Amino acid sequence: MKLYLLATAVHALQLPKIMRGKGAAPDLEKLRFLSNDDVRSVQQDFGTPTYVYDAATLKARAEEALAFPNAYGLTVRYAMKACPNGAVLKLFESMGLNFDASSTHEVRRAMRAGVPASKCSLSTQQLDDDAITLMKEHSLEINCCSLSQLDTIGSALPGAKVGVRFNPGLGSGGTAKTNVGGPSSSFGIWHEQFDEVVALAKKHDLEVIRVHTHIGSGSDAEVWKRVSSMSLDLCERLGDSVKTLNLGGGYKVGRMAYETSTNLQEVGKPVTDNFRDYKERTGVELKLEVEPGTYLVANAGALVTKVQDVACTSGAAKGNDFLKLDAGMTDVLRPSLYGSQHPLVVVPSDAAKDADDATHEYVVVGHCCESGDLLTPAPDEPETLAPRLLKSCERGDLLVVESVGAYCSAMSTAGYNSFPTAPEVLKTTKGGFVSIRRRSTLDQLLQNEVQVDASQL
Ligand SMILES: *Cc1c(COP(=O)(O)O)cnc(C)c1O
Repeated sequence: MKLYLLATAVHALQLPKIMRGKGAAPDLEKLRFLSNDDVRSVQQDFGTPTYVYDAATLKARAEEALAFPNAYGLTVRYAMKACPNGAVLKLFESMGLNFDASSTHEVRRAMRAGVPASKCSLSTQQLDDDAITLMKEHSLEINCCSLSQLDTIGSALPGAKVGVRFNPGLGSGGTAKTNVGGPSSSFGIWHEQFDEVVALAKKHDLEVIRVHTHIGSGSDAEVWKRVSSMSLDLCERLGDSVKTLNLGGGYKVGRMAYETSTNLQEVGKPVTDNFRDYKERTGVELKLEVEPGTYLVANAGALVTKVQDVACTSGAAKGNDFLKLDAGMTDVLRPSLYGSQHPLVVVPSDAAKDADDATHEYVVVGHCCESGDLLTPAPDEPETLAPRLLKSCERGDLLVVESVGAYCSAMSTAGYNSFPTAPEVLKTTKGGFVSIRRRSTLDQLLQNEVQVDASQL
């Protein structure tokens, strides 16, 4: 009861349109690119849970990113950690996108999908030895993200051309956990260590050709203006070896109907102005790189699940009506981790019920034996239950978790409770569904486990 009240208070604060006012029926979320019949046919052909990605949406978002305003040229890098399936990489590569990899393993993964390493740049928290091989033999580009990385690369490849990722001292991530700039973030080289960067570059004869600042710039044009001018200051101090400024990703995307997405034309405008001023000041025509992950894929993915059980804790006092999905943190961890909001849409298993308009408040939970496995937390409060108004449903009905294209399949707690990993399918622009990853098997889960005899222990 206490939890419930708290959740309602949070809603009243943050979601006035949805929760406030008696009688004003809140809008139910809608499916984005699937029809109810699509959802039922995905269940029939692939089972549940299954991730479905939409090629048309992926293409539309990529076109928008490729139209990002720029003064002297643009490279769009897809931050592949958001959704690294090879089919998605291939589709984006065919449209002219390049890639941002967050580990050498991701670079190898892109290569397996047919993407040359030369189209990837590596910005990593952990620099493995393979980075040197990839740079030397496959023309991988790198953004050194720490002083030690700069020293390591310089020692192995003196004279190399490198990028340097700075933490410019400002961040604007949506939550403390997604903030990637400012003093609370470990990403990049702190701007006040600038002189050490210069000294290391000099020591190893490195040519710093790119400055990188990924702070999660959000959707506010003012923030973009500030970040781009702080980043341009770093470029200017490094001198005219710098040919490219990479402003990273982190563009906010509206998942719920009441949220809005970043307008790339709007946030790009002050950036372009700043690049023109820079040219006036220094004579250098800097190329712009942007690195969206979320923006390109978040709303291009849906997870088709089944309501496999229900529970009710109401008795003398009001409790909750729970829907238990056959998916959960094993597939969509973001709500448990950040209190992220994802649209939830009930699709009746019986098409005859599609037009029914009864609604009910449910708490939706996942299938793990873990109370944090929650699909309806209060916004930014992963531990607070926030009952959600949905179309009334029962066991056996389907429930689609929308906007799961980014950091869901990629960030699952795969293997927990030994549930299989859900398959991925792509809705092609022609309308059919093709499998791009099969459901995992128990054999695959156990393949590296070593059998020992209890007598050995
Ligand atoms: C994760 C990441 C991105 C993409 O961030 P989004 O929030 O998904 O847009 C871009 N650049 C770097 C270096 C990253 O680590």
